Amino acid sequence: MTNQTNKPVVLCFSGLDPTGGAGIQADIEAIAAQSSHAAPVVTALTVQDTNNVKDFAPVKAEIIIQQARAVLEDMPVAAIKLGMLGSAETAEAIHSILTSYPDIPVIFDPVLAAGGGASLSQQNLIEAIQSLLLPLCYLVTPNTHELHKLTAEADTDSAAAMQLLDMGTEYVLVTGSHADTKDVQHHLFGNFRCLNSFSSERLEHEYHGSGCTLTSAIAGLLAQGHDISQAIRRAQNYTLQSLKDAHSPGSGQLIPNRFYWNK
Ligand code: PLP
Repeated sequence: MTNQTNKPVVLCFSGLDPTGGAGIQADIEAIAAQSSHAAPVVTALTVQDTNNVKDFAPVKAEIIIQQARAVLEDMPVAAIKLGMLGSAETAEAIHSILTSYPDIPVIFDPVLAAGGGASLSQQNLIEAIQSLLLPLCYLVTPNTHELHKLTAEADTDSAAAMQLLDMGTEYVLVTGSHADTKDVQHHLFGNFRCLNSFSSERLEHEYHGSGCTLTSAIAGLLAQGHDISQAIRRAQNYTLQSLKDAHSPGSGQLIPNRFYWNK
């Protein structure tokens, strides 16, 4: 017997983190937790533990394109989520796919460095993101470090967010987990102004995959039909609960429990 109420599909492009804390596993879990279905395309294989990334190898661009096209031709994809890309060639491959599907909203967490500090991007990837991907995005979710790497000349977060809007994305959510504020504050920009702010308590630990969790949950909720502010508010609350219930299987950052209600 088939299930007549299919879940909305989110096509994800992310790196594989063998600790299971960040990357594609975080995406799959956070999207499943919103009752959407993740279709995962791995962009890069990383070598890492819960402290830092030690190495990574991008997947061949042609294989990425073939995987994505196989899914897009088979399923009605409601949203596309981008995470770690790893190389300019991967950004170019994804650009070629996105231009064939201009009506699917693209939600992009521009992963440029690992939580432990290791770089996951080179200048040619940053340039490919600016020229090829940002013009096709519905929402980009940089933290403050990523925001300023993508907009080298801007003095303030708000000026930098305006520059990203100017590059063509419809919305920018500047996430505040790395900022020096008492609470964590995310700011949503669109239409060349700050539209909304979302605040939540700051927790004391460091987490592996918190940014992936937030952005994937937003993508899963947008795919369900929530409006952007509602999706962000719900995803922020979901992420906070999964961080509060995080576990510590390794020697470094904690791993969110993205099914925290399932004890
Ligand atoms: N994706 C991959 C494959 C990673 O290795 C990392 C960080 O190490 C991230 C995404 C970003 O993780 P976070 O959500 O902690 O910023």
